Amino acid sequence: MLNIYNTLSKKKEEFKPINAGKVSMYTCGPTVYDYIHIGNIRAYMIPDVLRRYLEYCGYEVRQIKNITDVGHLTNDDMAQGDTGDDKIEKKALKENKTPAEITEFYEKDFHEVEKEMNILPAHYFPRATAHVPQMIRIIETLIKKGFAYEMNGNVFFDVTKFADYGKLSGNNLEDLQVGARLEEHPDKKNPWDFALWIKAPKEHILHWDSPWSVGYPGWHIECSAMSTEYLGDTMDIHTGGEDNIFPHHEAEIAQTECATGVKFVNYWIHTRHLKVDGVKMSKSKNNFYTLENIKEKGFSPIELRMLILSAHHRTQLNFTWASMEQARANLATLNNFYSRLLSHEPTTEEKLSGMTLEGYKKDFEEAMDDDLNTPKAMSVIFQFVTDGNKLLDENLLGNPMEAKKLLETFAKVLGLILQVAEIPEAVQKIAQERKEARQNKDFAKSDELRDTIDKLGYIVEDIKDNNFIIKKK
Ligand SMILES: [Zn+2]
Repeated sequence: MLNIYNTLSKKKEEFKPINAGKVSMYTCGPTVYDYIHIGNIRAYMIPDVLRRYLEYCGYEVRQIKNITDVGHLTNDDMAQGDTGDDKIEKKALKENKTPAEITEFYEKDFHEVEKEMNILPAHYFPRATAHVPQMIRIIETLIKKGFAYEMNGNVFFDVTKFADYGKLSGNNLEDLQVGARLEEHPDKKNPWDFALWIKAPKEHILHWDSPWSVGYPGWHIECSAMSTEYLGDTMDIHTGGEDNIFPHHEAEIAQTECATGVKFVNYWIHTRHLKVDGVKMSKSKNNFYTLENIKEKGFSPIELRMLILSAHHRTQLNFTWASMEQARANLATLNNFYSRLLSHEPTTEEKLSGMTLEGYKKDFEEAMDDDLNTPKAMSVIFQFVTDGNKLLDENLLGNPMEAKKLLETFAKVLGLILQVAEIPEAVQKIAQERKEARQNKDFAKSDELRDTIDKLGYIVEDIKDNNFIIKKK
């Protein structure tokens, strides 16, 4: 039974779907004006692990992930500024391209990154620009019900009309009043009101007709429109990065619940930030990494995935190149074990014995059920690998195919891709013996075994923590 931390209730809750056996899940997707960075990758990978685990538990999951292809203003305060800081248009002007050329390029790149990271594609990726009529309809309802007001072609949501405003982030209006750097806008009743529709200045390329002005939608309204369009007024799960909690998700709740009159989302799940060498990523600090940067250093996307799994999604992940080395070593350990299992032919006596697998499966499920505890789940897998390797060394593993199936199941839930090193078991066994010799500081024996491996046509390469990779010569 999955228990998951809900940002809304601020506690772990037993997961109960609205419809038996089915799960509806909305994930805030990218604004496609730049390459996504490894922090974004983490925020898309965690919902993927959640979805994979729910599917493993037998649920049918429907996941929607939007593509923001209209240059919303990430900083809502600026949404009311007259210049309209549209990131897509800015980039288009800078690169002498049309906004559509910019969004097409980065949307394609986003899908490629997700694919390389082995993130399952959402069932649908709606684009914001294709849902402006739905957004207008919600805004009309909000005005009619008295939750929003129009002034000089701009429409704002009046947060004082929604008593629950702040229930997700814990921000209340008094705190906001004191702490926020809200820019005054002559058309706003309260400084913390947020824009639903913005009248477009002349130079704004992206604009649509509306009952209020030729303009463009505020950022938050697009997610309300697209999530309810495809998942209904109430959905099971909404995910995002922790930076989405306020103002984006708080605003989504306010406008959606005021428009529909029902609860918007049952479980809000947020992934915490990723830091690099203990500090926030930024382009100016030269510590801003994309998947391309990871690959340039010789690491694979699945090694990055391994690193992300090593931290719980509600803790900050500190990315370092040393931790990438560790992730590589860990993945190599899994692949070596996988290869050994595949090439192991149990002897007649061995067939009578076998590894008891149920316990590992149970422990793995327990870890995942506990708020998707991936580091704990990984440690269960490594225990399984250590025990399995030992049995293989002693010629006691009589059920390698069942062990292989279990390893594949674990890998599938976590989205890891196992690779078979086509190395004969004899070579792997010698490499394993050599590892032990090294651990015992018996370097004469270790060198001797390396020569034996060499004579058999293979090279053994040492990596971190006494792990190794075997390659064909
Ligand atoms: Zn969103």
